[in-house]
Amino acid sequence: GLARILAKNKRENAMPIFTHPEFDHHEHVQFCHDKATGLKAIIAVHNTRLGPALGGCRMWPYADEQQALNDVLRLSRGMTYKSALAGLPLGGGKAVIIGDPRKDKSEALFQAMGGFVESMGGRYITAADSGTGVAEMALMGQRTRHVVGAGTREQLGGGTRSGDPSPATALGVFIGLREAVLQRLGRHDLTGLRVAVQGLGQVGYNLARHLKEAGAELWVHDIQEANVRRAVDELGAHAVSALDIYGLDVDVFSPCAMGAIINDETLQVLRAPVIAGAANNQLAKASHADELWRRGCLHAPDYAINAGGIIDVSYEYNGGTPEQVRQHVEGIGETLRQIFLRAKAQDMNTTRIADSLAQERLNA
Ligand code: NAD
Repeated sequence: GLARILAKNKRENAMPIFTHPEFDHHEHVQFCHDKATGLKAIIAVHNTRLGPALGGCRMWPYADEQQALNDVLRLSRGMTYKSALAGLPLGGGKAVIIGDPRKDKSEALFQAMGGFVESMGGRYITAADSGTGVAEMALMGQRTRHVVGAGTREQLGGGTRSGDPSPATALGVFIGLREAVLQRLGRHDLTGLRVAVQGLGQVGYNLARHLKEAGAELWVHDIQEANVRRAVDELGAHAVSALDIYGLDVDVFSPCAMGAIINDETLQVLRAPVIAGAANNQLAKASHADELWRRGCLHAPDYAINAGGIIDVSYEYNGGTPEQVRQHVEGIGETLRQIFLRAKAQDMNTTRIADSLAQERLNA
């Protein structure tokens, strides 16, 4: 597997690109260094067949360049699939800055990074990710136009949105969750639907609000006490412990905190017939998708259901009205319907079906 190949390369002190296990026909991999600011970054453009490659710029204290390369290649390819599946005129790309976001940030560093993004000539469009936010995008925006999420609506100069994609993400997850409930439980009406929401941040809280408005009953957990209290006070949610959230007798488990949440441990207790949430990379292992399918648990593939954010930033970049954004986000329901119906027809797990549907859209 990957670990063995990388260990071998490490022993031989080699830094593979074309033979890297995650390379997968990347069009362009750019190593960026700026001596004055100490910037070390990698920009990866996986595929621009459907449009310029859009993907976040992550800042992370990678132990070495090999780890940074693994991450950027894997995430970049993931963006190709995500945008293709969402029917967007965008390709897949990603950037990583090697550094500690708590210690190594400076204005000049992000300006220099903006310069590198500009040098890609619009083939790569950057956005916020782990370790970066609006402030960093605004700094990069001093050197390049190829950036999204760099300011407020006013600062965006008549743009269509606020620069925060999480409300669109939450709406998309709500729509996708509704579709999964319809397919698996045959329910149109969400009144009394029992939903466990893990993580009440920007997306999770908004999702919980949509669910409450639709009449659902909520069980919630967040490691931040204030977020739990707000959901209890404002949405009448039931607070449960970190461990209890998995094994509840609910209709839907909605992971909206972190990745790898479907794993060998949680699978021992998870029993909701539907899993539909915003978190990225929910499956710890690819084989867990088969396990869920075998058990009759309908899992909405993460990159299909959480595409509202990328849809939103796509319209920020290309222009469009909030109504167009909303209509496009509602299309997540139809995409998931296709995935679920095909999964059933082919008796194959939903993640594999999503991947093949994305490939079809990419090659259409
Ligand atoms: P956020 O940081 O605003 O919220 C995450 C919440 O999860 C926080 O309140 C945090 O306290 C809580 N949390 C962390 N660890 C937890 C744990 N072990 N148990 C319970 N709660 C925990 O992030 P967000 O923007 O709401 O994103 C949530 C997830 O959705 C992430 O996985 C993110 O990658 C994914 N996602 C977000 C967007 C978006 O538009 N923001 C788009 C696509 C995917």
